[in-house]
Amino acid sequence: MSGDTSAREALPADDAAVSEAERKARKAAFEANKLSKRLHRQVGQAIADFNMIEDGDKVMVCMSGGKDSYAMLDILLNLKARAPIKFDIVAVNLDQKQPGFPEEVLPNYLRSRDVAFHIEEQDTYSIVTNIIPAGKTMCSLCSRLRRGILYRVAKELGATKIALGHHRDDMVVTLLMNMFFGSRMKGMPPKLVSDNGEHVVIRPLAYVAETDLEKWAVHREFPIIPCSLCGSQENLQRVQIKQMIRDWDKQYPGRVENMFSAMGNITLSHMMDTKLFPFVDVRATGRPDPQGDKAFDEDEDDCGAPAGGAAVQPVRLIRD
Ligand code: SF4
Repeated sequence: MSGDTSAREALPADDAAVSEAERKARKAAFEANKLSKRLHRQVGQAIADFNMIEDGDKVMVCMSGGKDSYAMLDILLNLKARAPIKFDIVAVNLDQKQPGFPEEVLPNYLRSRDVAFHIEEQDTYSIVTNIIPAGKTMCSLCSRLRRGILYRVAKELGATKIALGHHRDDMVVTLLMNMFFGSRMKGMPPKLVSDNGEHVVIRPLAYVAETDLEKWAVHREFPIIPCSLCGSQENLQRVQIKQMIRDWDKQYPGRVENMFSAMGNITLSHMMDTKLFPFVDVRATGRPDPQGDKAFDEDEDDCGAPAGGAAVQPVRLIRD
């Protein structure tokens, strides 16, 4: 009798637990679906805006084993399956022989995705650690070596595009780094010819926020390879700026997106680069120009409406 009672008492609690778990699962599935749509839309948009991938291209997708490159490959494979054009994907990882690098993780994943891949084994770790004194940052030499190797591999594989997993936040951080420490307004382009002139480098994640990539990596359970195996510290200034924009994003939602959009919405006449705008030739035209100088009025956009009356460029990174 007492057993029956306890069983009856347990039922409502179990029901409640099941429905709570179900509610959570449904919410998680809904959020994942929304995230998936946003990521695929943003990557598709970036590819279209910059004509990143064309019919017949062979895209070499550089895989580090981090969340960004996994997400890039994942999304490109999905887009390839439904794209109106035909292009090939080959995933490439450079095994730099860092101590503890789990060399089977990426090949296993790539086989599971049925994607063509190439693992290039080059012991750049030994080269770098032999040249750079202990305690000094190794990243500059390491990335120079890596770049040269990847260019060669791209050539050998017949790749027409090299895809890198940099995202929106990387691009904003690079702009700020160049301003703060290099005294120049130079960002990280979504598409550009490589410095040796032989390849076209593309960044399909250009419109994607890093926080979305973090969530996607968790959702898709990518087998992430830690990025600290080389023992080098990430550039401290870069770390600080990354933190700064994360804080801004929380405190002032939209600020990072606006900074990012600003990189594609430049008014050269309102900067001061004499190489890009012929200031020496400026003469009065006699015609009103909403883009002209407002003399004593501060030409700023502090109320959300553009100075000069032009339409606000919609921020491309719409948060669903
Ligand atoms: S963090 Fe390590 S692997 Fe990455 S660039 Fe620096 S030295 Fe190379």
